[in-house]
Amino acid sequence: MKKKYSIIPFIILLCFLNLNCQNTKNRASDTVSSEKASSDNCVNNEFRSSDISLMPEWMPRDMAVFKVLHPGIVVWGSDPIFHINHLETYKKELQGFKDLGINMIACNVWLLTATEEYLYHNPEYREAVCRDITGTPIVPPWLDGQYKGVKPYWGCTNNPLFQELLIIKARLGMAHGATMLHLDDHLGTFSCAEFAGGCFCEYCLEGFRKWLAKKYTPQELSKKGIKDVTRFNYAELVKASGYTTKKAYRDAV
Ligand SMILES: [Zn+2]
Repeated sequence: MKKKYSIIPFIILLCFLNLNCQNTKNRASDTVSSEKASSDNCVNNEFRSSDISLMPEWMPRDMAVFKVLHPGIVVWGSDPIFHINHLETYKKELQGFKDLGINMIACNVWLLTATEEYLYHNPEYREAVCRDITGTPIVPPWLDGQYKGVKPYWGCTNNPLFQELLIIKARLGMAHGATMLHLDDHLGTFSCAEFAGGCFCEYCLEGFRKWLAKKYTPQELSKKGIKDVTRFNYAELVKASGYTTKKAYRDAV
């Protein structure tokens, strides 16, 4: 089940014309490469206090049901990852909103997971996930779905591969008619660190090393027991301190 989260994330208004995704591969990126976000997507977005927002995660059979609401914004759009094999349908859905007179249409870029089905078909992304102190991939506690045995693992927003996928999704949305971005679960890996026992992936450990080196002098680090920050491994420190399981670590922080 897709989560229902209490926080309504930010809407970021962007004319998404200059994003170039490097390292395109035979995945969603192939679809993007054949599409170009045109300047037609750049609209004069301006919120009004009278605007009525739609949050249609999934489309109704008949778009006319929205008419009586006189909506002005699609604030919670659908993530293109769910339409990856039928993007023309996705495009028609977005056009349906435009036919209702809506110019501000958000593309949902879900920062939480690549989804279980996409992870099944693109196994390389299963390596770009948050990991607990034992190295085990973390599943967001409120996501209970799976696809042929693959779970919706928590994507690590510090991992370049997952970052690449986020950009691909944003570009897909813009290329198919969206005019805004909705960054869903925008805290990404920070939330995982806050209450899910992660992340101890190589990118997060390296990021922590860089943060320490920037924040503290070598003398200050030495006083904390870190003689050589370039070789410091936070995960090893945690385990050496006796917190060798996800539960033990979560109970301690
Ligand atoms: Zn990580």
